[in-house]
Amino acid sequence: MEKISVIVSCYNEEKSIPLFYEEMERVSKDFENIEFEYIFVNDGSKDETLNVIKELRSKDNKVRYISFSRNFGKEAAMFAGLEAAEGDYVTLMDADLQDPPKLLKEMFDAIKNEGYDSVATRRVTRKGEPKIRSFFARMFYKLINKVTDFEMVDGARDYRLMTKQVKDAIISMKEYNRFSKGLCSFVGFNTKWIEYENVQRVAGETKWSFWKLFKYALEGITAFSTAPLALASIMGILFCLISGLFIALIIIKTVVFGDPTSGWPSMVCIMIFLGGVQLLSLGVIGQYLSKTYLEVKNRPIYIVKETEKKN
Ligand code: UDP
Ligand code: MG
Repeated sequence: MEKISVIVSCYNEEKSIPLFYEEMERVSKDFENIEFEYIFVNDGSKDETLNVIKELRSKDNKVRYISFSRNFGKEAAMFAGLEAAEGDYVTLMDADLQDPPKLLKEMFDAIKNEGYDSVATRRVTRKGEPKIRSFFARMFYKLINKVTDFEMVDGARDYRLMTKQVKDAIISMKEYNRFSKGLCSFVGFNTKWIEYENVQRVAGETKWSFWKLFKYALEGITAFSTAPLALASIMGILFCLISGLFIALIIIKTVVFGDPTSGWPSMVCIMIFLGGVQLLSLGVIGQYLSKTYLEVKNRPIYIVKETEKKN
């Protein structure tokens, strides 16, 4: 019998998990001859999440769990789940039911009958999200698609169903700075996109502040593009050319018209401007250097405190 592993990253989701489990149990009845396993990854929750999961485990052997020693972030949680998954198919879902389990059947059929290797989802609306957040999200996707060769789909969720082969390809990338949407695009394979309307979370609240999202966006850009580094060189070349032009102009001016001392205000402006450009470029290099620094350290992506195997 074939098996689907459902990976759920959970951070303070005590209220959502039981609802999620119920919904999944209902949905799994539509599948014939398919076994399920649920892998709940507790990403250092501060509430009763772990106990809620353990209680499910005591009632249902399909439920497995991995509990981290602290909060490592959703990317780390998804990675841990993928590593632990034993199924022939693997799906990644949020605990808050924003990734509707009822789409799973359609996704599964696309892999089974239409020959796709993975099925990804994107929400076509951002209803119920703060306007400013949607605006920056759209800008981010425009920008990242300009500077990288890998396609990043606007509104793409982490909710996907994939074959074991695709999963193995994704976990073969053990980088520390993980940006799943890029990783999934990087591995290739035949991917079908399914669209759906945005769904509000069932309980609890979002864990992504604007600042956290901003840092994640930078991560996405530095992880999948080196264009900002090239930008520094391009600006360098541009300013060299401009300064060459100015030097020639000044020489001609001095020779032909003499040399009155003037133009201090414009000089100060130019100096400040160039200082700014230099600092910006240094900052860009610093970003890449810091990411490289973290990769080179080769620290584990997550640390497990306990799993169901110890019980
Ligand atoms: N999550 C996680 N670790 C974190 C933050 C979030 O595992 O550090 C999980 C969270 O429990 C949820 C999913 O990631 O299942 C998506 O988070 P959330 O719903 O807060 O994000 P949003 O849907 O608002 O983008
Ligand atoms: Mg959510």
